[in-house]
Amino acid sequence: MSKQLVHRVFLTGFSGTGKSTVAALVAAALGWRAVDSDELIEQAAGRPITEIFERDGEQRFRELEREAIARVATENDVVVATGGGAVVAVENRRTMAAGGLVIALEGRPVTLANRLRDDGDAPASARPLLAGADPVNRIAELKTQRQRFYALADALVETDYRTAEEVAAAVTERVRAADAWFSDHPDRLLTPEERDGPHPDEPIWVEAASRRYPVYVGWGLLDRLGELLEQAGLAGTVHVISDPEVMSRHGDRAVASLRRAEFQAYPFATDAAGEEVKTLETASLVYDVLAQRKAERSHTIVALGGGVIGDLAGFVAATYLRGLPFVQAPTSFLAMVDAAIGGKVAVDHHEGKNLIGAFHQPRLVVADVSVLKTLPRQKLVEGCAEAIKHALILDPALLTDLEEQADDLLHLEPSVTVDIVRRNVAIKAAVVSEDERDTGRRAILNYGHTVGHAIEAAAGYTMGHGAADAIGMTAAAEIGRRLGVTPEAAVKRQRAVLDRFGLPTSRPGLNADAVFAAMALDKKVEAGKLRWVLLEDIGRASVHSDVPEELVRDVVEGVLT
Ligand code: NAD
Repeated sequence: MSKQLVHRVFLTGFSGTGKSTVAALVAAALGWRAVDSDELIEQAAGRPITEIFERDGEQRFRELEREAIARVATENDVVVATGGGAVVAVENRRTMAAGGLVIALEGRPVTLANRLRDDGDAPASARPLLAGADPVNRIAELKTQRQRFYALADALVETDYRTAEEVAAAVTERVRAADAWFSDHPDRLLTPEERDGPHPDEPIWVEAASRRYPVYVGWGLLDRLGELLEQAGLAGTVHVISDPEVMSRHGDRAVASLRRAEFQAYPFATDAAGEEVKTLETASLVYDVLAQRKAERSHTIVALGGGVIGDLAGFVAATYLRGLPFVQAPTSFLAMVDAAIGGKVAVDHHEGKNLIGAFHQPRLVVADVSVLKTLPRQKLVEGCAEAIKHALILDPALLTDLEEQADDLLHLEPSVTVDIVRRNVAIKAAVVSEDERDTGRRAILNYGHTVGHAIEAAAGYTMGHGAADAIGMTAAAEIGRRLGVTPEAAVKRQRAVLDRFGLPTSRPGLNADAVFAAMALDKKVEAGKLRWVLLEDIGRASVHSDVPEELVRDVVEGVLT
């Protein structure tokens, strides 16, 4: 029997996932004590939660919640059922991550709505969710907002179609497995100093329908690439695909790390870097090399580079021998926060970007944030446009942090940069987990794309993608404002944050007709209708297909003057 090293388990998850019931069952199985954070809050305040909300407001409730979680994080052998919204506060997430194992209970909105309805004892905070005409929808909406925080747990346990006993057994197994793992890796137990920072051993999980995989984000992780591949169950031969810029700077470290973990690692660099190599011709060169090396189905492709290499190597991995295991090791900011996650892989065709592609999810993603030190500044800034977009459509707190920490981020201060990348990864992971094949929710990630892509195409791909998207977002915000969808204050704040990062909000001199022609081409691809993602406010976006053409023309002409 391994020595007990985990002393606390925090159960997170939406109301209706059964946290309190499961906590009691897990505690019984482990011989520990079950604690309910809502009960601790009521004891401390001396009145029920409903009254705290009514008399003191939600802010006071959240303060009491923080205190309760901090208190219980100093006790031993406890299973804590936390309130559904506890994970939203960064302090709670830090306390829980530092203090024990965080396990998120998952459930589909319809399951949660049914459970809450059937449970006469549903928590007071859940009652408003059930009050309206369409509780499933309301739960889905709120859950989507919180999903990125639940996704930061050490493990997720599904509760759909399972009894509380079955869920508790799965949680107990996770706790025992973690204990056994820490016994074998005592060096991985966090020191108190390490606890405040994000730890690379806590990946963010993408729960795509076709595959569940971890995304590791940390400073210096490339030296652990081999170990992380091994941990993911990969072995044998690895083909590291990169471009000359990245291979010359980081290739040796990646290959050395793989060889230390006893992989046979073979590097291959494309002839040049940038979009020009994202072609079938380059893919064909890689196929030649794989064929010469007698690559087999068990061999792994590692993409070491920006979004271009990720898309290209991923496309090769999806097609060679009908699919090889694939690992993303993104090295540009854009690839870390966006391109490397979600399994979209492609090469360009002379008729358009990404026309030939597939969905091929990686086995894991390893983002070593320290390699951004060699990324050209302009590329870093452009990647930040993606982070700003994530914040605008889904995460007001992230927007505030981007506004306040812009300098630290642009100077690559390690803890700030790792934190910002992690939070963006969590957002992308949550959206992809919900809509792997891009048929619904994932569309909101296209905020700014309708005009951005057209500007990029009209400029003959001479301007960066992030810069084009920044102008696209500016146009979308203005369209939203004129339609009465986007509040004036949100438009102003968006413009200010783009300015703060040195991103453009207009492109004077570009031919408007060329931009409209490119938009018309997009429209054909979209079956005759352009889809507009508009901000309803900071952190909330919706898709519209009924924007009048004259309005679009007017706004687009505005950003081109
Ligand atoms: P990129 O891959 O061309 O990288 C930009 C440049 O930076 C290249 O010259 C590269 O060599 C260099 N570089 C990258 N990392 C470096 C490092 N650490 N040090 C020094 N130089 C470094 O471009 P990108 O902006 O990373 O990605 C753009 C591509 O991503 C586009 O092709 C786009 O279609 C694709 N993309 C894909 C998805 C997806 O979901 N698959 C999403 C967004 C974008």
